[in-house]
Amino acid sequence: MQKLEQLYEGKAKKVYKTDDPELLIVDYKDDATAFNGIKKGTIVGKGVINNQMSNFLMQKLEKEGVPTHFVEELSERETLVKKVEIVPLEVIIRNIAAGSFSKNYGVPEGEKFASPTLEFSYKNDDLGDPLINSYHVLAIRLATKEELDTITKYAFKVNEVLSAFWAECGITLVDFKIEFGRLSDGTIVLADEISPDTCRLWDSKTGEKLDKDRFRRDLGGVEDAYAEVMRRLREHN
Ligand code: ADP
Ligand code: UDP
Repeated sequence: MQKLEQLYEGKAKKVYKTDDPELLIVDYKDDATAFNGIKKGTIVGKGVINNQMSNFLMQKLEKEGVPTHFVEELSERETLVKKVEIVPLEVIIRNIAAGSFSKNYGVPEGEKFASPTLEFSYKNDDLGDPLINSYHVLAIRLATKEELDTITKYAFKVNEVLSAFWAECGITLVDFKIEFGRLSDGTIVLADEISPDTCRLWDSKTGEKLDKDRFRRDLGGVEDAYAEVMRRLREHN
């Protein structure tokens, strides 16, 4: 599959056209950003890990009935995906209080919820990805009611499948962000990535953070944490 012109360069990935109008190539970078792009850095080897981890988890989710954009891993950093029109929502599922939830609602980090939560942020860098509710989503036509129902159903399924998988690896899935898109026929599929950039992953025994919070909070050992998560994933696949 031929990589044609670059369509987009984001904070973590580049996206290229291919000779098939329905397919794109995603190229994962080592660049890391936080706080809406204010903090910038490099996590050496991250692109390779995020590409391989995301592809592994998406294939697992496909088997469990969640359709995804994944087509084929082309190289260490490049993957062929189905082109989608991204639904401009960050879909966030939480099992344990952390990050902005702890800050906004005064719930100490680490407190386990009675049941998982779901929230949406409006994916809009200029506005700082503000929290948005489902009535707002419908009012400004970001998605239809049917699409929101499908997205919600898939998001909880992703949580079930990934929580169980990470538990086998001795890792607690604290929370994560996913994105969905529409194929040309309108079908909703899981898109973007699932990686330590987009999930909070804590060692089940020690509580050690094995995700991008090490970068966000200057905890050190960022590369080692990404490599450790990847090592455990490989051990359990
Ligand atoms: P950001 O845009 O937040 O800086 P990235 O660097 O990860 O993020 O850029 C990748 C971009 O590609 C994101 O905007 C994401 O929504 C988009 N994207 C992910 N998967 C697909 C897909 N299958 N088709 C079209 N766009 C996609
Ligand atoms: N997240 C993400 N991209 C974002 C915002 C959040 O991938 O732009 C992920 C983040 O890694 C965490 C979850 O979504 O796993 C919830 O993040 P939170 O709202 O607590 O925000 P943060 O503390 O990262 O500001």
